[in-house]
Amino acid sequence: MWLEGSLCFMECNKAPRKLYKISSKSSSKVKGGASLLALLVLLTTAACGQTNNNQVTTETSPPTTATPTPDPGKPKIKAVATFLPMYWFTRAVAGDVAEVEILIPPGTEVHDYQATPENVKAIATANVLIKNGLGLEEFLEDTVKNAQNANLKQVDASKGIKALGEISPVVEPVKGKGHDHDHDHSAGNPHVWLDPVLAKQQVTNIRDALIVADPNNKATYEANAAAYIKQLDDLHNEFQQTLQKTPNCTFITFHDAFPYLAQRYDLKQVAVVEVPEDQLAPADVQKVVNTVKKYNVRALFNEPGVDNKLLASLSKDLNLTLREINSLETGDKDPQNYFKSMRANLENLQLGCK
Ligand SMILES: [Zn+2]
Repeated sequence: MWLEGSLCFMECNKAPRKLYKISSKSSSKVKGGASLLALLVLLTTAACGQTNNNQVTTETSPPTTATPTPDPGKPKIKAVATFLPMYWFTRAVAGDVAEVEILIPPGTEVHDYQATPENVKAIATANVLIKNGLGLEEFLEDTVKNAQNANLKQVDASKGIKALGEISPVVEPVKGKGHDHDHDHSAGNPHVWLDPVLAKQQVTNIRDALIVADPNNKATYEANAAAYIKQLDDLHNEFQQTLQKTPNCTFITFHDAFPYLAQRYDLKQVAVVEVPEDQLAPADVQKVVNTVKKYNVRALFNEPGVDNKLLASLSKDLNLTLREINSLETGDKDPQNYFKSMRANLENLQLGCK
């Protein structure tokens, strides 16, 4: 069976293929009745001999210069963040001493985003541009070029984070069209913000960049970042304490967004991505079910607001409740929403894994 072959291929961690994204875009497709679903199985098994190698490699300190006195008459610097998690982290650090704008409106797919003239304008007048990096914001290169802002400071929030390489095998039970999710993210899986420990490193990188761009407000950036990092520490402790009760819990999601979270808390992810739903045959579903059964899957997760018929079918056949897990790529712009959404994820992981 080629399906088996793919899984082994995966487990041996060779010749990786990449598949990221789905989320809001497939959500609209589903609503439009032309939904695409495919199956991709991603395993972080011990058999791979894969170690927990996405540790933060450096804990950078903010520049140690004398703290200048803030000048209330001085205009605020402008920071532009690419998408929601970067916007949350930047807003949290900036507080009210810097302006923060978001390039990709929440609700718009980040993985294959096309820049708008407004994005070019926003970057042209910004002091700092903050991106997640790891190949996520493919639209940025040309957009930054077009903005012609010689003074722009670009910040890669994932600096110092060792990315997980491609570990997702592709299982396509349905031969079909429209596999527009197949992007080559040679920089690794970009979804680092979903691990609270790696999120701390992103906040630290953003803090340091704002301090360099605006040293007058160093003390404020430091205090704001420390407060947010404290919240991330608390969240990490909650995840650890809750999920250590269900080690090796294997879960299925349809968006390859949770390998960092899974690795951090000793879970295993099997990711389901899109195939043409209108061609999904019972035999295809059966093939998926048979595969999934071998991995003792405990929990099934769908993205909020998405009607995923393959997952619904799996849920029925495996007799597992379909719950929600949120990749945080869209949602409310309040920086506290990170914690709200992550705690909802934790609750659903706990329910699914018990
Ligand atoms: Zn994603």
